[in-house]
Amino acid sequence: MSLAPLKTVNEKQLNTRSNVVHTPIKSNNNNNNNDSNNNNYIGNKENIVIQTNSNNKRTDYHHRHDQPPQKKKKEKLSSLCKTPPSLIKTRGRDYHRGHFLGEGGFARCFQIRDDSGKIFAAKTVAKISIKSEKTRKKLLSEIQIHKSMKHVNIVQFIDCFEDDTNVYILLEICPNGSLMDLLKKRKSLTEPEVRFFTTQICGAIKYMHSRKVIHRDLKLGNIFFDRKYNLKIGDFGLAATLANDRERKYTVCGTPNYIAPEVLMGKHSGHSYEVDIWSIGVMIYALIIGRPPFQSKDVNTIYERIKCRDFSFPKDKLISSEAKILIQDILSLDPLERPSVNEIMDYIWFRGCFPPSTKESVMVEVPNYENEISMAESLINFENCMEKSGMLDRNMNKEPLPIEKYYTTTTTSSSSSNSVLPHSLSPGGTKNKYKEVIDLDAQRKLNELARQARIRRAQRETIKKSLIPTSTNTIKSEISLRILASECNLTLNGILEAEAQKKMGGLPQSRLPKVKHPMIVTKWVDYSNKHGFSYQLSTDDIGVLFNNGCTVLRLADAEEFWYISYDNREGWIASHYLLDERPKELNRYLEVVDFFSKYMRANLSRVSTFGREEHHKDDVFLRRYTRFKQFVMFELSDGTFQFNFKDHHKLAISESGKLVTYISPSHESFTYPLVEVLKLGSIPNYPESNFIEKLALVKEGLKQKSMIVRVDQ
Ligand code: ADP
Repeated sequence: MSLAPLKTVNEKQLNTRSNVVHTPIKSNNNNNNNDSNNNNYIGNKENIVIQTNSNNKRTDYHHRHDQPPQKKKKEKLSSLCKTPPSLIKTRGRDYHRGHFLGEGGFARCFQIRDDSGKIFAAKTVAKISIKSEKTRKKLLSEIQIHKSMKHVNIVQFIDCFEDDTNVYILLEICPNGSLMDLLKKRKSLTEPEVRFFTTQICGAIKYMHSRKVIHRDLKLGNIFFDRKYNLKIGDFGLAATLANDRERKYTVCGTPNYIAPEVLMGKHSGHSYEVDIWSIGVMIYALIIGRPPFQSKDVNTIYERIKCRDFSFPKDKLISSEAKILIQDILSLDPLERPSVNEIMDYIWFRGCFPPSTKESVMVEVPNYENEISMAESLINFENCMEKSGMLDRNMNKEPLPIEKYYTTTTTSSSSSNSVLPHSLSPGGTKNKYKEVIDLDAQRKLNELARQARIRRAQRETIKKSLIPTSTNTIKSEISLRILASECNLTLNGILEAEAQKKMGGLPQSRLPKVKHPMIVTKWVDYSNKHGFSYQLSTDDIGVLFNNGCTVLRLADAEEFWYISYDNREGWIASHYLLDERPKELNRYLEVVDFFSKYMRANLSRVSTFGREEHHKDDVFLRRYTRFKQFVMFELSDGTFQFNFKDHHKLAISESGKLVTYISPSHESFTYPLVEVLKLGSIPNYPESNFIEKLALVKEGLKQKSMIVRVDQ
């Protein structure tokens, strides 16, 4: 949807007032955010919103407060906003201004009514607060993003227009205050209420994220109640759209108590959708406990606490263990470890008491849902709420979950001899009880599996990010690159297959691959800043991979050598020569090979005692080497991959991922079927080799090198 330009509509100066008077803050009890005498945490901290650009300079927009208490408070930009005239005329429509609704850092909000009597909220931004082009763009972005949203739990955008003094954003009216107002009144909420609120919030976030929008300022003060006390997320002032799911955002923004750790730390790695998930965790905690988890008087202390995830559950507040588990998982430092909105809904916590709606008396009365709503009703309410907020598509999920699944309360079964009903029909029957436990246990296990999977994914991402190649030989032939990529994939698949076999309990002896020691690189020297990369193989053959891409492989047990170069059809083409009959133009290459050979003999020790074996019939050469910070990776022409790690342990993966060879720092070498080592969890007798961690790096190295990066030269 394209945004209509904001045009001045009042040629007759209808909305311009001659004398500038500051808006009196009419505080209606629900909506007054400007609570200077309220010492509740929210009034003091929640409306500080920060946004810094990459130079770490604060921009005028959204810098709604300065950082207390060290610095002097700045006047809020919203205070520049004057009360609009009682009649606002725009594009042929008249709006009658009603009472003041509330104030943010940037805008003041008024009730307005159109000629037909419909009531809206007009978020009013003073034009003098839009000082720079950047600020104007930010406002337009807020409008554009908000305008594109349509969801039952998002404040509906209606229209926008301007007069000489203000820009007006017309919104669906939310006349019952915000979650922040509710918490201020009630001090803390019951878990059933918070379950209901969280479901509605998750529905809205799922919708936003599916449209590649990150809100980035989710907090209790930005979530409002509509007429029927349904929640509506508002204020898209810090929202951002992503061009694709891989894009990252780098602007440091948010509200101190709700800001995610990666926003504070990740100037380089950036942030994405997961920052909104983090704020859900902060909100659930705040609603149940009564204050946010990282609260402190000093903003910098809040940041320090967030960065090290320093929060706990106060002993004097009642909170269920299920809620704690959910909050702890959401507040994971690593964004990838946080559950998705769908996964949040799978948490056991939601299987507890669940109301059908929020009562109108919510502001003043503590509901007693636990006594009013049965567990069977809770299930229905939960599913209804999920469906209404877009978290559940009933058509997709035709089979409703059995009610037994949701029984958490254990009733004592009557086993007296005068009972009439058979055990299986009695509501407290052991069969039911058994089922309850099994089902909830199964759900718990599923949650745990999902958590483990997220942790593994996060670890993989960390490895991936840390794996940066420092040098490699450039391969100029496309077909060679394809061959290397397919070898990497073949071996990677072999490793994955071995991992799957291990999960199934391993392989019977008869199906284990036959152990054959592979040919490996026993010495190497990187002289690529001059000639190239030289290596010795376990056969004692010496190879030099020259900077121009060709290889000379001097055989150890014969007066012969290979000259290998790229070939557009075969990938590589090798020509065999007797030393005595070599063409003159290869003399220079052989001199360099000789030089390296002497150098390696004199200066380097052999890393393995392997020699030429029966099965080493074909000569092997090095197709590619890649030096990473953590290891050097060799890709040999017989499909063996070798990884020499910084800590002097080495691994070779051969036979398409079926065999692993371990070479210890003291040069002992052993070859095993990979599935057997996976079963043991480490190299026999060498637990210090950290095999599993190294295999994760191996897989990532293979993955990285399986990508075909074209070299257009
Ligand atoms: P800012 O961008 O300045 O933070 P907000 O969008 O948070 O502005 O709005 C400021 C205040 O206006 C809110 O705290 C709330 O009290 C009131 N408000 C905002 N939107 C609505 C709405 N749709 N209905 C009723 N009041 C609203």
